Amino acid sequence: MPDCGFAPRLPACGTGGRVDSETVWDIETDILVVGSGAGALTAAVTAADHHARVLVIEKSAQFGGTSATSGGAVWIPASRQAAAAGAADTPEEGFAYIKALTGDAVEDERIWAYVRQGPAMLDFLERATSLKFVAIPYTDYHAELPGGKLGYRTHDCNPIHASALGADFDTLRPTHPSAMLFGVIPWTMYESAPMITQAPGWQKILAKVIWRYVSDVKQRLRGSRSRFLVFGNALMGRLKLALDAKGGKLLLDTGLVSLVRQDGRVVGAVASQNGRKVRIAARRHSGLRWLRAERYVAGGLSAGADQPGLERVAAEQYRRWPGGGAGGRGCHGFAGGSLVGAGDKGRRRAARAAAVL
Ligand SMILES: Cc1cc2nc3c(=O)[nH]c(=O)nc-3n(C[C@H](O)[C@H](O)[C@H](O)COP(=O)(O)OP(=O)(O)OC[C@H]3O[C@@H](n4cnc5c(N)ncnc54)[C@H](O)[C@@H]3O)c2cc1C
Repeated sequence: MPDCGFAPRLPACGTGGRVDSETVWDIETDILVVGSGAGALTAAVTAADHHARVLVIEKSAQFGGTSATSGGAVWIPASRQAAAAGAADTPEEGFAYIKALTGDAVEDERIWAYVRQGPAMLDFLERATSLKFVAIPYTDYHAELPGGKLGYRTHDCNPIHASALGADFDTLRPTHPSAMLFGVIPWTMYESAPMITQAPGWQKILAKVIWRYVSDVKQRLRGSRSRFLVFGNALMGRLKLALDAKGGKLLLDTGLVSLVRQDGRVVGAVASQNGRKVRIAARRHSGLRWLRAERYVAGGLSAGADQPGLERVAAEQYRRWPGGGAGGRGCHGFAGGSLVGAGDKGRRRAARAAAVL
């Protein structure tokens, strides 16, 4: 029996709960979230915050996905944090900028969904987790375009010490070397910018950053990984802490294989855990009328899953909730993947669907 951590409502985890003549469920949950990147864990925390039982399955032995390895900088126009920093920005300018970048590749309603829900998503995360975001003076890559800004749309989150994560530190996917000083020393956005540009005082900051790293003698004796977690590591570490605090569960080494449908609806999924099949039922939670149980959240899909099915489900989810439509209920989620559509269309569409969750 998999260590699902839930008291199964079905007769027993692994022994019953037939929904049809074929399926025997091993685990039952309200919401099943596939993947453990920023898109997935934000959706998971959101559902758990609405008192749903949430199960996250991650196919690899580490959680956090590309998000954990990344700079973790969250691009959202016209946020409350930007206003607090004194920046002048509006949703309309944010829309104009994305529109100028994407042309006709992305539907307007999808862009509006991102622009309108983004600031609410940041505020939600500040309320529901220990994350704090700061809008930083990091320029838009094409600030010359209509709606472009010279800063304060990129948000950095607060660092965290590995000790706060306990054993999760070992399974948090590490920061990518390209996002660290000398490929190994973490630095915050406010530390890296003056060093890269050699602004006045950069030597002092350099000394501080190196000292912070070498002075952690206990950890240096263990290895090169720093316990001062920044960027995507801080983002994913704090999201995981919030998931734990709200009773959500994460299963590593558990990859989605296929979705289970009943009467045309997705009612669960089959996952592979260390080569063994695990059938997971996803029940609708009464407090989550806006998040239908048959909808699955996928962050960064990859080979091995029933991708066409999953993409379609995620895309359907998006279509139902563009711009807070169909009742305009508040939904939160990180943008998984780029808004600029190209290449693998289905995968990007699924990722975009996560953006409006
Ligand atoms: C070095 C670097 C720096 C970056 N910096 C930034 C930045 O500062 N700002 C920014 O906006 N973007 C940045 N990016 C891009 C950004 O990291 C990604 O676009 C984003 O993390 C994607 O998030 P996601 O939630 O969609 O998926 P991911 O974070 O990739 O998570 C997907 C997860 O799903 C799991 N998974 C896949 N298939 C299955 C399956 N079948 N079953 C179960 N689990 C599965 C994967 O193992 C993975 O853990 C950076 C990227 C890199 C590499």
